[in-house]
Amino acid sequence: MKTLIVHLTDACNLSCRYCYHSQWDVKQGQKKMMGSDVAHKAVDFLFDHAGELDEVFVVFFGGEPLLNFKVIPAVVDYACQKASEEGKKVNFAITTNGTLLTEEIIDFFQQKNIGVTVSIDGLESVHDRYRRFADGSPSYGIMLPKIKRLLDRSDKRPAVARVTLVEDPGKVPQILDHLLGLGFAEVGFAPVTTGHPDYQLSNHDMDLLLGEFQNLSQKFLYAAKERRFYGFSNIIDMLVSLHQGEVMNYPCGAGLGLFSIDPHGQLYLCQRFTGQDEFCMGDIFNGFNQKKLETFRDQAEISNKEDCQQCWARTICTGGCYHEACVREGNHLKPNLHYCEWIKQWSQIGLETYCQLASADPEYLEMLCMSRGYRSHMTVRETKGGSYEKERA
Ligand code: SF4
Ligand code: SF4
Repeated sequence: MKTLIVHLTDACNLSCRYCYHSQWDVKQGQKKMMGSDVAHKAVDFLFDHAGELDEVFVVFFGGEPLLNFKVIPAVVDYACQKASEEGKKVNFAITTNGTLLTEEIIDFFQQKNIGVTVSIDGLESVHDRYRRFADGSPSYGIMLPKIKRLLDRSDKRPAVARVTLVEDPGKVPQILDHLLGLGFAEVGFAPVTTGHPDYQLSNHDMDLLLGEFQNLSQKFLYAAKERRFYGFSNIIDMLVSLHQGEVMNYPCGAGLGLFSIDPHGQLYLCQRFTGQDEFCMGDIFNGFNQKKLETFRDQAEISNKEDCQQCWARTICTGGCYHEACVREGNHLKPNLHYCEWIKQWSQIGLETYCQLASADPEYLEMLCMSRGYRSHMTVRETKGGSYEKERA
């Protein structure tokens, strides 16, 4: 076990119209907060199942995790203490909507080197269309000054933005430049996952999105060739994965090295399945439900996805996200056949960008991977004259 997603609460102070949590239909009053006893036990569980790994990851998630901030400092201290006792490293991250950030919380993130991902949809008009408080009031104006303070201060580990795309892919370049201009180090885009036709991107929109991604990948490449950084996460993720030579049998770590834990201590495949019995894989008190987990791992493996066997992109796509498959295809184990053409074309853009960068400046790819925490295949060092020397490590 490498990554534990700690679902600190089901509650959220926003009521975004496209949110997958809204399917749960739980009244705010009934929503749970994780207590520090469960959170500490969750940390024990992570370390007990980390085996030989030298680094583990704790990600605070919700709902809105800052509604239960009081639990975080003690958990961070406890996890650091466990890590030092066991000779491992522990890395922390949080995903937040940014509306509850305070000076104290920002200070804490800085001191403890906690990576912050902010869910933000970009320009005010786009963001406020869907990301609103429960009373219907907009959230951008509340969030912006807090985000600016966070970005002003996040020098050690710059914050990144995650955008949910609901409409108008033509605005993607503008949104990216706006968020990079605010000071985010990187911005990633994900089309909304929903079965609701009002919020789904149409096929035409997905084609437009692909065109925008292609243009932004070219912009990234252009910057890279000048040894500059353009924080378009989607192409960076793809390039890092290709450079690491990842040949995947599963689309992600869900149910392998990654689990989500709910406020009661139940373990789920990933954060998006938290609270859904069908995807519960045990609990931190009694351990994994090994039989259920093994069945999932057998069934989810790419060799069992018949439709994918002849696909050239299968070791990159691996059938796609289980949650998306659950929502769009009716079963988490089905491949996401609704986006095959799209993902193949996007993989091709990634491969072309990779080849161009690999032949122009392979060291840049090394540095990109190192910035994501991977070890370099070679040692890259800057010489006095500003050029780079490499040697095989
Ligand atoms: S692109 Fe389609 S066929 Fe290919 S691996 Fe992905 S889901 Fe399967
Ligand atoms: S199942 Fe989907 S949402 Fe969950 S970790 Fe995998 S890719 Fe992410």
